[in-house]
Amino acid sequence: MTYETCRICDGDPVRWAERAIDSLPLCEPHENRLRDALHETRHRAPYETRFGTWTGTGHYDDDGLEFVVCSRTREHSDVGRVSGDLCRYCVALWADDVRYSRSLVLSPLDVDPEDMGYARAVEVRVGRLRVALEAGVISEAEALAMFDRMARPLRGVA
Ligand SMILES: [Zn+2]
Ligand SMILES: [Zn+2]
Repeated sequence: MTYETCRICDGDPVRWAERAIDSLPLCEPHENRLRDALHETRHRAPYETRFGTWTGTGHYDDDGLEFVVCSRTREHSDVGRVSGDLCRYCVALWADDVRYSRSLVLSPLDVDPEDMGYARAVEVRVGRLRVALEAGVISEAEALAMFDRMARPLRGVA
């Protein structure tokens, strides 16, 4: 078996038998984040949620496996999946979005610490870190580490 990392943060994936989606490795915080996201949208209509489920089409391949399409978009299709199960392409899109949101707040500032605008840039980023932390996109430890990296030049410590 090949070793895979969390699709969102490259952390160690959980090895639980019961995962939200088998084909997509996630670390424990992000597996829990996915469960929360699923819970929030559970009773929404398909067009109001970003997580589709498989629906049988009544068509079968040569092996007798049914073709299924996603309840959100017909661009997602598969074969031999259980109707009502989570569409793994929707989950992958969600994971990639979270990964992108993380990269926006955890990437280095593109302002030089010598620059007049540096303190202001730090301030703006701190606001974004707080939003990302509240949304569960980053952990407290990640927010603090990022803050520390940005604040170091302001304190005159290299
Ligand atoms: Zn992760
Ligand atoms: Zn889908």
